[in-house]
Amino acid sequence: TKKEGEKKKKMGSLSSPHFVIFPFMAQGHTIPLLHLANLLHRRSVTVTIFTTPANSPSILRSLNYKDISIINLPFPENVPGLPSGVESTDKLPSMAFFIPFANSTKLMQPHFEKALSSLPKVSCIISDGFFGWTQQSATKFGIPRLVFYGMSNYSMAISKVVTKYRPYLGLKSDDEPFDVPCFPWVKLTRNDLEPPFCDPEPKGEYSEFVMEQIIATSKSQGLVVNSFHELEPSFHDYWNSEVGPRAWCVGPVFLAEPQKVEPQKKSKWVQWLDAKLAEGRSVLYVAFGSQADILPEQLREIAIGLEKSKMNFLWVVRSKGLELNVGFEERVKDRGLVVKEWVDQREILGHESVNGFMSHCGWNSVLETICASVPILALPLMAEQHLNARMAVDELGIGLRILAENGSVRGFVRSEAVEKMVRELMEGEMGKEVRKKVKEMEKMASGAMEQGGSSWRTLDLLIEDVCGYK
Ligand code: UDP
Ligand code: UDP
Repeated sequence: TKKEGEKKKKMGSLSSPHFVIFPFMAQGHTIPLLHLANLLHRRSVTVTIFTTPANSPSILRSLNYKDISIINLPFPENVPGLPSGVESTDKLPSMAFFIPFANSTKLMQPHFEKALSSLPKVSCIISDGFFGWTQQSATKFGIPRLVFYGMSNYSMAISKVVTKYRPYLGLKSDDEPFDVPCFPWVKLTRNDLEPPFCDPEPKGEYSEFVMEQIIATSKSQGLVVNSFHELEPSFHDYWNSEVGPRAWCVGPVFLAEPQKVEPQKKSKWVQWLDAKLAEGRSVLYVAFGSQADILPEQLREIAIGLEKSKMNFLWVVRSKGLELNVGFEERVKDRGLVVKEWVDQREILGHESVNGFMSHCGWNSVLETICASVPILALPLMAEQHLNARMAVDELGIGLRILAENGSVRGFVRSEAVEKMVRELMEGEMGKEVRKKVKEMEKMASGAMEQGGSSWRTLDLLIEDVCGYK
């Protein structure tokens, strides 16, 4: 009978592991956790995703399986200092609202706990590092929590050691290089670090918020990292042996998602890339992520540099209401396309015409460019993007970078530097070297995600470990 069928189904889900996944409401944080949800589902894990009403339609579209359930928690209303109706950081008028936004999620805790208590036995909660408050709930319910930062082991380990040893103290300037303790081959400047990691005594609401999350993570069962061991073995080993809790590298998670190819519905930019195939691999893809605040003056300066470089480019501009230089799009129309819509970045990076990626170095973008064998031209803006740029350029050798006028990694970038480095990446000797290197990394990445590869095995171990199914 129908009733028996339902009972059987429920028992089935009780005996298989059940993971709750709660992604932070920002594209760069949500996308990889949805890929992970699909991956876990394939390993016979029951998955429940927590989000808010405004975010659930796009989440639903990204899930490959109908039996992954979504629970909508009400997003807090009338929060002082927050525009109403905004439920994700990419919809905020500026990143200045980030802290009120992130702090407001704490008001979701009673709803989160009520929903948790109504679910069949939960084996594990995977929640974003920005939801430190979910650690309290996990402890209360006796459920292990795994934290997702959306960062590399390199950034995690370096943030940890600079906080502990403060190697930047006593330097003459923020651009003076110092050796990073525990990783003596790594040279950084204080300008590569963001608060609280560049302050001996971090102050201010952002630093406070970050410290709070770090403390919550230290009480968790571990971290799920969208990276693979072979990419950054020293940093991963350091984290697991000296810092902890254990980081499980299970990525790049998007490699488990076949690219959707719909030739009948090609976007105008893919058609444009197709047309450029006649010139071989000649296009520079330019994009700065889903939410980076970039000054209009800086964007216009980049436009001048691109124009002077004479290279082909596809530029995805996300800054709202931005006017590029007068006549720019018309002047470059034979070799440059400006797009202001949401694109499928992996589709673009995987296109045969694309030969380089000018990027803000969000961690997802770095992984995506590696997996497409496309070298990077780094122009980091905020968060741990400067560390990602260092990693890509200095540690992995898969890219070049554009520096500010005084050779600093931070500050206004001139069109001359843009022009020079675009040419170098696309046509120069250094460009050739980094292109070779990124191909090697691509092989390692796909190897890690294949059946029996390091990330594949780690995901199996994680499920066994967390659920005690040995
Ligand atoms: N895959 C992976 N890890 C997994 C499951 C799948 O990396 O845990 C990748 C793998 O590269 C494989 C592809 O996803 O080639 C398709 O996997 P599978 O045949 O399991 O997919 P199915 O069609 O059974 O869902
Ligand atoms: N992305 C995309 N289309 C866009 C903008 C972004 O597909 O138009 C995706 C991109 O492929 C990546 C994510 O959004 O997976 C952005 O993450 P990343 O870490 O690179 O940067 P963030 O947006 O977090 O700064």
